[in-house]
Amino acid sequence: MPSQYDPVESPDETTLFPYHDRTPPKTADVYRARRVVRRTLPRTPLVRSEPLSAEFDADVYLKREDTLPTGAFKVRGGVTLAADLDDAFRDPGLIAASTGNHGQSVAYAGRTFDVPVTVAVPRDANPSKVTAMERLGADVVHHGDDFDDAREHAEELAAAEGYRYVHSANEPKLVAGVGTAGLEIVEDLPEVDYLFSPVGGGSSAAGYCLTVGELADATVVGAQSEAAPAMYRAWDEGHLDPADEMGTFAEGIATRVPFAMTIDLLRDRLDDFCLVSEDAIRTAVRDLLVEESLVAEGAAAASVAAMRGMRDELSGKTVVLPISGRNLDTEKHRTALGE
Ligand SMILES: *Cc1c(COP(=O)(O)O)cnc(C)c1O
Repeated sequence: MPSQYDPVESPDETTLFPYHDRTPPKTADVYRARRVVRRTLPRTPLVRSEPLSAEFDADVYLKREDTLPTGAFKVRGGVTLAADLDDAFRDPGLIAASTGNHGQSVAYAGRTFDVPVTVAVPRDANPSKVTAMERLGADVVHHGDDFDDAREHAEELAAAEGYRYVHSANEPKLVAGVGTAGLEIVEDLPEVDYLFSPVGGGSSAAGYCLTVGELADATVVGAQSEAAPAMYRAWDEGHLDPADEMGTFAEGIATRVPFAMTIDLLRDRLDDFCLVSEDAIRTAVRDLLVEESLVAEGAAAASVAAMRGMRDELSGKTVVLPISGRNLDTEKHRTALGE
């Protein structure tokens, strides 16, 4: 008899286990997640940006997800998933593959709910991110040359040891959890017209569609680098084929493989999707640093680049731009400043 821990057929190229429910979450699930998020994380500020408001002749607000304790929005999903963990997994705990923010999110959630966490990372993973995960109590396992090697190792360990494998996108609770940022925006700024979200695995854009899209009737626009267009193509063309190219420096949106559940949601609900150039992302990282004194990852800067591509439409509108992460490494920081 196949066990709980044997992989099941997956519609995309990633591995799924029987406990992975691929039913897309609904707005009601985001409200449910809110109870956990409110208990475990601070509400993040929504702050008007004077430089961007002037540039676009619009009211532009930054949703400061970089002020969360891990520096990125993903932890909203991590705590939502860990709060409701099946008892069978409490002892072996959670496992994830990540080079950065997903791993920190799961590590933070495990510490919050007293569940052990293992994170698989590639051998050359950024040491400061590894340290951040270890500081949160995670056991970090180095394996392979790149993210996909580490991911396959995590999937094997999950099958062998009975860990709960926390997929990076096909997880309704992660999407519902990250959607709580959108509920906060709707409460603070019900007149929002546009929201720009970077797309990596698609969980945050899906969460915004279920909240600012559904409840405030805002236009939700996704942004991805033209150097890593897997999710864009899947959304546009209606398939789940991996992209050949994956060369963006913006690691939050460096996805090679599209994910089934989030593509389902985004094809249904995302209003528009822009591809932006690597140069436009780099310029936006620098502008956020110089003009807003904000250390923002390339992923967040991709939204600024997308706004610049739709300038004419935005004049006079109320626009929200989530600052999704602050974990920009020192090297990229220097490059952005042209040092
Ligand atoms: C993960 C991540 C993204 C992409 O979000 P998805 O929900 O995977 O689409 C964007 N920015 C940052 C900082 C991230 O960590």
